[in-house]
Amino acid sequence: MRAMGDVAIFDSRHDAVGGLPVRRALPRAAHRTVGAWCFADHMGPVPWRPGMMRIGPHPHCGLQTVTWLIGGEALHCDSLGSEQILRPGSLNLMTAGGGVSHSEESSSTDTGAFHGIQLWVAQPEATRHGPAAFEHHQVLPKVELDGGGATVLIGDLAGHVSPARRDTDHSGVELNLRTGVTTVPCRESYEHALVVLDGSIRVGSMVIEPGKLAYRGPGHDQLVIEADGPAVVMMLGGVPFGETITMWWNFVARTADEIASARHSWETDDGRFGTLPSHLDRYDAPPLR
Ligand code: MN
Repeated sequence: MRAMGDVAIFDSRHDAVGGLPVRRALPRAAHRTVGAWCFADHMGPVPWRPGMMRIGPHPHCGLQTVTWLIGGEALHCDSLGSEQILRPGSLNLMTAGGGVSHSEESSSTDTGAFHGIQLWVAQPEATRHGPAAFEHHQVLPKVELDGGGATVLIGDLAGHVSPARRDTDHSGVELNLRTGVTTVPCRESYEHALVVLDGSIRVGSMVIEPGKLAYRGPGHDQLVIEADGPAVVMMLGGVPFGETITMWWNFVARTADEIASARHSWETDDGRFGTLPSHLDRYDAPPLR
């Protein structure tokens, strides 16, 4: 970690999901959550090839998945019966609640290099045992800033409010920056994280590039970003999450017993996570440690 002023920079961890190289920016030991954001995988970029991403049916509970592409295409299928092709500029938002299962795969035809981010949002106590749901949004608010444009995926920016569901006070904004300085308005009650998907930016003297997570705590009403060239940045914000979560595999819960119960439900296919017929292989849960 390097810290300068109020901004701290963390290295992402390299991993692979369903055959796809990812850089895992969240969680970090120092920051299990940023607002309710609890997981961030920067996927790709990788050139298209057949079967490049095959993530067969697997379960989730206690979280929302937020999937956003800046290149390529993916097909989402879930146990609610949703079948949705995801393309750049559209938002997939799946709420797991008590339980849901889904699959994700790359397109069978060449749709260009695959590049995007998958984020998880921890659900609060009030909704985490509730019903599962799926939303797809093709129209999202666009905001012109002094140094570029912003798309509001979740929450709001400068009075522009996303139609996407949110169960806590948090926001997710894609910044498309030009060379030069951009001033982004912020809520003082929010902590923030920046994940650079493309290009290179600076906040103060800190350089932030793909493979890094920048963190800044609450207490600021704006963020000043300098870009050396065109850059795409995911800006995540939120009021610090007031509940202590336990994350294991694809589950977000509060206790080890809840995790064991969710794992048992998936392994015995007891109906908690619904049914998802698929040509892809179903994932087995790893052993509990
Ligand atoms: Mn998933």
